[in-house]
Amino acid sequence: MIVYLNGKYLPREQAWISPEDRGFLFADGVYEVIHSYRGKLFHVDEHMRRLKNSLAGLKISYSNIPEIREAALRLIQENGLKEDATVYIQITRGTNFPRKHAFPPANTAVTVYVMAYPITPRDPERETGIPVITTPDLRWARCDIKSVALLPNVLAQQQAIDAGVTDAIFVRDSVALEGSASNFFAVIDNVVLTHPKTNVILPGITLDVVLELCRKNNIPHLEKPIYLNQLWTAQELFLSSTTMEVMPIVQVDGRSISGGKPGKVTRKLQTLFKEYVASLP
Ligand code: PMP
Repeated sequence: MIVYLNGKYLPREQAWISPEDRGFLFADGVYEVIHSYRGKLFHVDEHMRRLKNSLAGLKISYSNIPEIREAALRLIQENGLKEDATVYIQITRGTNFPRKHAFPPANTAVTVYVMAYPITPRDPERETGIPVITTPDLRWARCDIKSVALLPNVLAQQQAIDAGVTDAIFVRDSVALEGSASNFFAVIDNVVLTHPKTNVILPGITLDVVLELCRKNNIPHLEKPIYLNQLWTAQELFLSSTTMEVMPIVQVDGRSISGGKPGKVTRKLQTLFKEYVASLP
């Protein structure tokens, strides 16, 4: 496997960073995850826009987006990734000694890392739907920045696994916000609901695709908060993300949702999503 690190294409085993990298010391960095379908990057412009916003949010000076796009495409080629694959991009505020919280000198080089690897589509789970738990949202107030500081997400996902389910939904102030690595939707009174894109969720690229599919296909949809007490009577619940696409939820905290089966609207959106991906050049 060939990866990209600071201007060089290297075998993965030869890619090393300093222990003084601020990504290691402070989680001082941002990332992106892009799906590659048949060797083509999905909504790469949107991912690059979000990457720029994340960098700006953390005041990391880096604007060489063409470098990232080129590395992503070249790694797909070099690693022969002709089917489903993921491109992971991470940029940190670089290396800095002695350790000090405040930013390093302005001329400090950022660390740029890109890798690409095959993924197995989660078709079996998309067919049956997944069980989830709810968990208190312990994250900071800038969840819209795709920062590598993911400890609450890590703990939430492990809590789910320890509870014998697939994922966890973050709940803050009685509002079900998003999954540990996905956005969250409910179908209530035949309307597809998802949280407005504010500072308390990550503005998902897949979320936007789902809303656009709703719009184009006359499926009623609204961006508004989904309260925890609405989950038990919701017609359907589902998650969206780059790797999950549209993932039905069939159980929350041990209680069955939509009769324990993926709902009609979720199914429709899964089909529309697949058709949309297949239609891309
Ligand atoms: N929310 C969080 C917290 C995430 O980590 C992700 C996945 N990156 C998402 C939502 C979904 O975003 P996307 O559709 O861009 O993958």
